[in-house]
Amino acid sequence: MSERPGERRPVRAADRRGERGRAPVVVIGAGLAGLTAAAYLRRLGIRVRVFEAGPHIAGLAKTERDPEGFVYDFGAHFITNRLAAAIGVGAHCRTIKHYGETVRLEGRTYAYPMGLMRRADFILSAIRRRAIVDERRPPRTAADVFRLRYGDALARRVAFPLLEAWSGAPADKLAPSVAAALQHGIGHTLLLKLDGRLTRRAVAIGYSHEMPESPNVWHVYPMGGVAVLCQRLLEGLEGCIELNSPVQQIMVDGDRVVGVRAGGQEHAASAVVSTAPVHVLPRLVVGTDVLRPLARFRYRPMVFVNLRMEGRGLLPDTVLWTPDAGGPFFRLTETPLSMPWLAPRGKTLLVADLGCEVGDEIWRASDEELADRCLAHLDWIPDARRRYRGCRVMRSPIAYPVHLAEYEDDRQRFAQSTGIRGLVSVGRNGEFAHLLMEDVYWRTLDAMRRLVADRAAAAA
Ligand SMILES: Cc1cc2nc3c(=O)[nH]c(=O)nc-3n(C[C@H](O)[C@H](O)[C@H](O)COP(=O)(O)OP(=O)(O)OC[C@H]3O[C@@H](n4cnc5c(N)ncnc54)[C@H](O)[C@@H]3O)c2cc1C
Repeated sequence: MSERPGERRPVRAADRRGERGRAPVVVIGAGLAGLTAAAYLRRLGIRVRVFEAGPHIAGLAKTERDPEGFVYDFGAHFITNRLAAAIGVGAHCRTIKHYGETVRLEGRTYAYPMGLMRRADFILSAIRRRAIVDERRPPRTAADVFRLRYGDALARRVAFPLLEAWSGAPADKLAPSVAAALQHGIGHTLLLKLDGRLTRRAVAIGYSHEMPESPNVWHVYPMGGVAVLCQRLLEGLEGCIELNSPVQQIMVDGDRVVGVRAGGQEHAASAVVSTAPVHVLPRLVVGTDVLRPLARFRYRPMVFVNLRMEGRGLLPDTVLWTPDAGGPFFRLTETPLSMPWLAPRGKTLLVADLGCEVGDEIWRASDEELADRCLAHLDWIPDARRRYRGCRVMRSPIAYPVHLAEYEDDRQRFAQSTGIRGLVSVGRNGEFAHLLMEDVYWRTLDAMRRLVADRAAAAA
């Protein structure tokens, strides 16, 4: 496992200072973040214990295969050559040659982002945006940011419907941070796209916010699926991981974490690294109520319908956004257009993303009902129903963190610190941030460096 380029440093004696006789660091969750944290600490000679609630490692980074040869990740999953190299699986990845996004609007398809600028109404509205938005006043919601950035027409017709389907909340109730994550300069994007064309590699655009974008960072897919990343991190952690062991309590004494309860037993801990969703922390933490504001943080549940279809090239490009589909999904991904190996020859996989709430009619619908609803809105694909061969449905009650403006101050405070000494919250759900795997990895390493430095300072 490597450090950030330019920051590689040897393990110093100071890092290990005071470790002898200390209780282990407990890691909650064996997904990418938990395993990255555990592998880093273990490499420094720090004792770790990882408790994983489920029967398997990898969390969201799991991969399933069916007997016909279709491969399913949790939704579509793309990583970069930089992450693969950092984890040590770079030699076992295939290069993705192409990745493109499109938007379907009023029955027409536009390449994203530049194709949308072919529409006169969007251009005029973007030009007029300065007249309607006071740029000196800081935006208070995601709706303000999108209006300012794209103009009112594109914001209303494309951005708001997509945001609302994705988050389950109106754009004017979402914090500006939602839009900040999607900020890319058009010129920079075009240059990277051109680089991708020339090198025949899907250069990663808008993927990482922790590391620079460059023509040398492109999308790859590990042979064996994204789960391979976690399998590699697991090497060296033998004996540290307990599966089927949900952590039920995190014990705090004063303002410091002292242990956890898992599998009905108490375990002393010198620190706890949690990757659990933040809205459950107030219930898990015993001995203080400083995390109570997190209880109202919301995650968006999502249902992913993987449709197995005859043929290939059913969508105009890998991803198709559908702000006015009038149907249950807001995004379709034909993963084999970028990764042909995910479906048998002559067949393809369409992944439909359906926003929902736990227990609503989408959440409860049977797999075949869901497929039927999706197919009913795919009538623009020739013979869609005849091509359909079956589906696999995946559900998550916590697919996307929803940054509501009403708790944005609490979110920003939590992003600085949990407020409990020795308790660190990392990973996508642990940071309550829409992080892709590479940023989960770098940010978790940074958090572990800080944890180790604090321990060394406390022991000095
Ligand atoms: C639909 C979708 C598409 C995505 N696409 C991409 C993509 O293309 N590229 C990309 O890089 N990333 C993508 N991501 C993001 C990526 O999957 C995540 O960033 C990454 O897998 C998160 O890892 P994690 O360890 O933070 O969390 P998780 O994978 O959620 O792991 C957390 C683990 O903690 C365990 N746990 C929770 N509570 C407890 C408890 N109390 N006790 C014990 N264990 C507990 C869980 O069982 C789980 O195994 C996508 C995510 C989604 C939802």
